[in-house]
Amino acid sequence: MILIAGGAGYIGSHVNKMISRKGYDTVVLDNLVYGHKEFVKWGKFYKCDLCDVKEMEKIFKSNKIDAVMHFSAYTYVGESVADPSKYYKNNVSNTLNLLDVMVKYGVKKFIFSSTCATYGFPIEIPITESHPQNPTNPYGKTKLMIEKILEDYDKAYGLKYINLRYFNASGADPDLEIGEWHNPETHLIPLALYNALGLTPKITVFGTDYDTEDGTCVRDYIHVNDLAKAHILALEYLNQKNKSDSFNLGNGRGFSVKKIIDTVEKVSGLKLNVEYGKRREGDPAILVGSSKKAIKVLGWKPEFYKIEDIVETAYLWHKKNKDKISEDLWKRKI
Ligand code: UDP
Repeated sequence: MILIAGGAGYIGSHVNKMISRKGYDTVVLDNLVYGHKEFVKWGKFYKCDLCDVKEMEKIFKSNKIDAVMHFSAYTYVGESVADPSKYYKNNVSNTLNLLDVMVKYGVKKFIFSSTCATYGFPIEIPITESHPQNPTNPYGKTKLMIEKILEDYDKAYGLKYINLRYFNASGADPDLEIGEWHNPETHLIPLALYNALGLTPKITVFGTDYDTEDGTCVRDYIHVNDLAKAHILALEYLNQKNKSDSFNLGNGRGFSVKKIIDTVEKVSGLKLNVEYGKRREGDPAILVGSSKKAIKVLGWKPEFYKIEDIVETAYLWHKKNKDKISEDLWKRKI
């Protein structure tokens, strides 16, 4: 059985669906602070916070867990600067709880949701796995801390891990059963879709004076199902090779904020109300990853190549769930 911590969230739920479809049994743990119970349509579900070691031990005792995939984390960069304690407790201390329960119950395979934010400001594009890791905010630091802790857990306890460093996760399940639903929402593609669908009055472009082709920031958008596929390959790699490693997961191509907004207009046929604003603090001009290592070593092959196709899956999911999202928008969670 595969334990998916944070399986009610955006990426965890897509992984849960894909891996269940592949025939694996899954156990989903989620505290439902940001996750959605309705996203857990596959496997067994336990409402459990990773601070609750006793409850986790019960779950490990009553299920035969072979490997753990860990998606539970707070991910708001700005909030991590304002309230680092919340991030170090949840993303570091609670992850340690999970790792220690794994060690206690002899579970030795771990797949970790890491991030390109561990690299900080890039000194070279595309970013490869050997790029220096100097995160610039507590969120990125929490992820790097876990990567470091994992090195030591491998040496001391033989716990094997794969760090998957995501670039910009985007898009939705093409069957439209699950999608990207955060509250508050801070990401570009969903926010552009909210505006297209009339849920918000405008979309603000954060900065137009970057040293890029059109002056707006460039990012590497990777479809959530392509990310999900990489998790299954990472698990198979651990099963076969029993060797720890780290991989970037991106498309290797950058798209500017303006290009994304144009794509949302094109795909939806709707006009956005775009405001051109100031830079957002801490945003590098360009973040594009090289995923050559994952392609070569894991045999990963991202399928969603065109940005239009990625945005279209997101648009269709948001359109279908517009009323629900609209209602939820009024309940701010932080
Ligand atoms: N962005 C923007 N307006 C928004 C949200 C994001 O211009 O309302 C920009 C942001 O500055 C960044 C890019 O869109 O350059 C992607 O941001 P997002 O928050 O989606 O992902 P990040 O790259 O920060 O992880």
